[in-house]
Amino acid sequence: MDSCLFCKIAAGEIPSQKLYEDESVLAFRDIDPQAPVHFLVIPKQHIESCAAVTPGNSAIVAHCFEVIASLAAEQGLKDGFRVVSNCGESAGQTVPHLHFHLLSGRDMTWPPG
Ligand code: 5GP
Ligand code: ZN
Repeated sequence: MDSCLFCKIAAGEIPSQKLYEDESVLAFRDIDPQAPVHFLVIPKQHIESCAAVTPGNSAIVAHCFEVIASLAAEQGLKDGFRVVSNCGESAGQTVPHLHFHLLSGRDMTWPPG
């Protein structure tokens, strides 16, 4: 998707602070962190949101979670972390490209606001 911000970040057309990259997934620091640790894990392929996950593309979601577990271990997030994916405008999604927030380093409230 030419106009998609995260497609541009995945393609390296917009710089990001990368934590992990392979042929299908990228992890990078959120530009506006909401916790001491806040990064995003995205598939490089354009999937609009959780609502657009299908049997045909769900393998990439599993891979995103492998990357999340691996980065959490690498960064020593032993006290816990939260994974969030906002799906749709009323849930707070501002970038229409599937992404998983990983937040850590502070106490989290529940339910989220
Ligand atoms: P959403 O609001 O869709 O759940 O999450 C989008 C996230 O992308 C937000 O937390 C926002 O701070 C982050 N973001 C928006 N633009 C950029 C950018 O250009 N670079 C980076 N690294 N993060 C961005
Ligand atoms: Zn995209």
